[in-house]
Amino acid sequence: MALGSTAGQLSGWAVERTGPIASGPLAMVRRPVPEPGPHDLLLRVEACGVCRTDLHLAEGDLPPHRPSTVPGHEIVGRVIAAGERTSRFRLGARVGGAWLRDTCGTCRYCLRGQENLCPASQYTGWDADGGFADITVVPEDYAYALPEDAEAAQLAPLLCAGIIGFRALRRSELPPGGRLGIYGFGASAHLALQVALADGARVHVLTRAEQARRLALELGASSARDADDAPPEPLDSAILFAPVGNLVPVALAALDRGGKLAVAGIHLTDIPALNYQRHLFQERDLRSVTSNTRQDGRDFLATAERIGIRATVTTYPLSRADQALADLAADRVNGAAVLIPGGG
Ligand SMILES: [Zn+2]
Ligand SMILES: [Zn+2]
Repeated sequence: MALGSTAGQLSGWAVERTGPIASGPLAMVRRPVPEPGPHDLLLRVEACGVCRTDLHLAEGDLPPHRPSTVPGHEIVGRVIAAGERTSRFRLGARVGGAWLRDTCGTCRYCLRGQENLCPASQYTGWDADGGFADITVVPEDYAYALPEDAEAAQLAPLLCAGIIGFRALRRSELPPGGRLGIYGFGASAHLALQVALADGARVHVLTRAEQARRLALELGASSARDADDAPPEPLDSAILFAPVGNLVPVALAALDRGGKLAVAGIHLTDIPALNYQRHLFQERDLRSVTSNTRQDGRDFLATAERIGIRATVTTYPLSRADQALADLAADRVNGAAVLIPGGG
């Protein structure tokens, strides 16, 4: 079956049966184009990034919230129809759809500026169909305005990888001019690195993939070593991007006194036993990063434009989404993988 929407139909991929990526958990689907709800925008997708979370959803590390859901939450699209209660975007405007899709707005977390912790939060590609399709719907309140002149494939990775990396950097409380360690170097890390460097940080990258170490050095990292190695100097802050619990004690041991380790992923394999003296004492902190607020998103997108972030991308036609996920699973993607409907 070829992908490409025909009148009244969209085409894309859905998670039909979770399992290892080699077992083919995604299937091509055709569906009627939905009517946008009163607060929704209907988008023609220009590009959609592939995030490690999509892999976790396909493989079942994150259990499905509903059957046959289209993944993808780094959506760059053009408005082709808008609900009657929308007002922010004209037809044809370029809009970004991201992971956070809805929150209640009334719980204690929402009210104190932590909508990322809202127990009623909903996520694109998990609670509703996402952007591994040529047409999708995003709620206007959770959509971002995007620059018209940039390449769509450049913008897509900013919408989750970029925003989450930015929040992880904030959670790591990197001091001005500080020493940052980055464990794992994929889409999110290579964007966070650029933000940290623009802030005057010295950055050490620790990752097993040789080509990722090369990319890190090209982008300005001070050193790039294997994931288990010690960095060349103690770290004020560290971010763990690899979903590997075994690296938590490794990264904690690399922190200087008072250092912070932020775990950026939504899923992590088990953390081995920690030793209080070796890993936590001297006020070293271990903390998680949970989704993001819309303010994080706006702040990051403004920062990305200001400092001229460049994403390293590998594009795939939408029809090769399964290949893109397989490449991501095998660490074969340098930077970020991006799907392009009708091309790539
Ligand atoms: Zn809430
Ligand atoms: Zn994501």
